Amino acid sequence: MLKPNLHYRELHDSYLFARIAERTAAYLEAHPGQRLLRMGIGDVSQPLCPAVIRALHAAVEDQADRERFQGYQPECGAPFFRETVAAHYARRGVAVRPEEVFVSSGASDELGHILDLFDPASPALIPEPAYPAYVDANVMTGRPIRHLPTGPEAGFLPEPEAAGDAGLVYLCSPNNPTGAVLDRSLLRRWVDWANRSGAVLLFDAAYEAFVRDPALPRSIFEIEGARHCAIEICSLSKTAGFTGTRLGYTLIPLELERSGMNLNAMWVRNRTTRSNGVSYILQRGGAAVFSEEAQAQVHKTLDIYKKNAKIIADTLHRLGLFYTGGRNAPYVWMRCPEPYGSWEFFDLLLRNIQVVGTPGEGFGASGAGYFRFSAFGSPEDTEEAMARLERLLN
Ligand code: PLP
Repeated sequence: MLKPNLHYRELHDSYLFARIAERTAAYLEAHPGQRLLRMGIGDVSQPLCPAVIRALHAAVEDQADRERFQGYQPECGAPFFRETVAAHYARRGVAVRPEEVFVSSGASDELGHILDLFDPASPALIPEPAYPAYVDANVMTGRPIRHLPTGPEAGFLPEPEAAGDAGLVYLCSPNNPTGAVLDRSLLRRWVDWANRSGAVLLFDAAYEAFVRDPALPRSIFEIEGARHCAIEICSLSKTAGFTGTRLGYTLIPLELERSGMNLNAMWVRNRTTRSNGVSYILQRGGAAVFSEEAQAQVHKTLDIYKKNAKIIADTLHRLGLFYTGGRNAPYVWMRCPEPYGSWEFFDLLLRNIQVVGTPGEGFGASGAGYFRFSAFGSPEDTEEAMARLERLLN
């Protein structure tokens, strides 16, 4: 008889956001007509910017024209998309070649697929609190996982001295959920460590567009030596509102080798086997994000979220609660007031002020007692939610 993948048995609980959805659905069933203020899941609320919409429309028209019609796209990405991304990095002073850019259908898909490149017996190190998909994607493949808890004393930042014999290390900066950002010197220590130990750093840059302190790195390839030890996973979801449109890209340097095998070449082989490319229309829309016009529009939208984050942070400050994040990230990470645990605080807010946040425990054991607010809601909902929180806790 065919055996299923038994590792699925080891997956804990249901996926965090599914559990939140379940609890909120149960609440709404019991309280019909209530409007919830959703400050939990990291979905965006603002539409795509006009320059991207125009590019998407034009690409649809291409598909209606016999001369301009596009069939299958190259599996690793349309040349115009790869060149546009490389040029964007060049403008930021980071050397990336077009053939090092791989288009994807989003970071989440990629974070799962990329594991194909590595021996499933090499342990993964996951600094926590972390985006829960890191753990689950590794559990599904049977890879041994080492959880590296981080806490407020070190600003929720992982230190390479604690990495041990990890083969694959997840670094998410700015971090979901804590908003912590690895600065240049810490990132350089990780790069040096990985080059010494032979590990590979999986740098999740889904929130790079939120970094506003110019001294902080937005790409791991700003760090010398990273081209020999890192893969960067990027997404247009939070940068440009592509959560529902779906487009991202992954950077794999040509120099990256382990055991004499070239990881860029392996990924080309993987993509040409497991993918038939990403929609031409979406790649046109994605490439448009990097135009000067769209960048200005996208940053206006990002400013809305940054303002929301400040409203949340200021509220927590007035309430005298410990929090991090919100400055270079769209998340604010707070310690639940006594005597509440993460899920109790979740229920308190849902039942009393109809605000939905994310319990810290969902991001790993070291998230227990913490809670995440997302700044991706509308400004009106964010203000209303924070006014209600202030009334409740005062
Ligand atoms: N990485 C992190 C840290 C995230 O928080 C998310 C989404 O919330 C993703 C990746 C996935 O992004 P995408 O929409 O590109 O799949």
